[in-house]
Amino acid sequence: MEATRPDLLSLVPSDLDVTLAAHFDARGEPRYRVAQVRRWLYEKGARDVAEMSNLPLVERAALADAFRVDEASVARVSVSGDGTTKHLWRLSDGEMVESVLIPTPRRLTLCVSSQAGCAVGCTFCATGWGGFRRQLSAGEIVAQYRASARFARERDLGGVSNIVFMGMGEPFANRKALFPALEILNTGYRVGARRITVSTVGVVPGILELARMPQQFRLALSLHSPDPALRLELIPLEKRYPLPEVMEALAAFNRAGGKRITFEYTLIRGVNDDPALIAPLAGLASQVDAFVNLIPFNPIAAQDWKPSRPERIREFEAGLALRGVATAVREPRGRDIDAACGQLRAHELVQVAGTRAPAEGP
Ligand code: SF4
Repeated sequence: MEATRPDLLSLVPSDLDVTLAAHFDARGEPRYRVAQVRRWLYEKGARDVAEMSNLPLVERAALADAFRVDEASVARVSVSGDGTTKHLWRLSDGEMVESVLIPTPRRLTLCVSSQAGCAVGCTFCATGWGGFRRQLSAGEIVAQYRASARFARERDLGGVSNIVFMGMGEPFANRKALFPALEILNTGYRVGARRITVSTVGVVPGILELARMPQQFRLALSLHSPDPALRLELIPLEKRYPLPEVMEALAAFNRAGGKRITFEYTLIRGVNDDPALIAPLAGLASQVDAFVNLIPFNPIAAQDWKPSRPERIREFEAGLALRGVATAVREPRGRDIDAACGQLRAHELVQVAGTRAPAEGP
């Protein structure tokens, strides 16, 4: 990343206004230039200062000298038979991250990455296997939204209606960029807070910080087991933030009001699909009134785990419903293009480095 010129995409809207006002004041330009640039960024999705055609040429040149717009470039785009579209983005320093557009009849959901790689090392996750590369900036998170929204617009897919932070990385391990990105997406690009979900494996300080925000951003917990010992085998961060502490943080999130929590539960055959886990899972969900997404594990060659059998998935679904827990079974989307967390980048790394292909993401 270039350090000298600030990236306009990384500034929260209030800072953008102040920064641009100072820039145009110093140049003796009228204040309405601020609103012009703001509109180019947030409403028109300008890729470059050069596109800002209602600014005089000399002002475009001065703006480009002072600031940059850190767009991600497409390294690869894969479109699945089910319409799921996966982008592999190359960042300015060559790092790669991915995002996924998931169309359904009523919504167009974008799954974004918050880190290049991930240090958490969950045993079921391709990103975890690849290790940590670096934090993304707020602008690099926002850039995934801007470019994906443009891609969708150009193909008549409609606007991006929902954003989920379920791509590469643990979002709360990059709070310095995550929280500004949430503000930029919500206040700048006007994506409703209730349509933005942050998915975590249970970073307690992050959950508490999200709970304190006035906007009603949504929260998803990658639970994957109600049993702490088993959970520790799947998610090493369980050691640092044990499940009882995570549940307390979720309760605080609930007390903050009106924000629905979702539990993500990937069902892996013979690993975390013992029917004895249904009652404790229901117990945890009831404690915080969580909605449970049951996701059959998406098998890949390098990992000998398999998805739970359909009858076992139905048993979980029925067992949770019987205990009054709202539940849905989510089929993994874009299987044919490796659209689970981290897989596309992982395959890219395999091709580049000749390493063994890692496992799938949550
Ligand atoms: S599941 Fe999330 S937190 Fe765990 S290794 Fe993968 S990206 Fe990181």
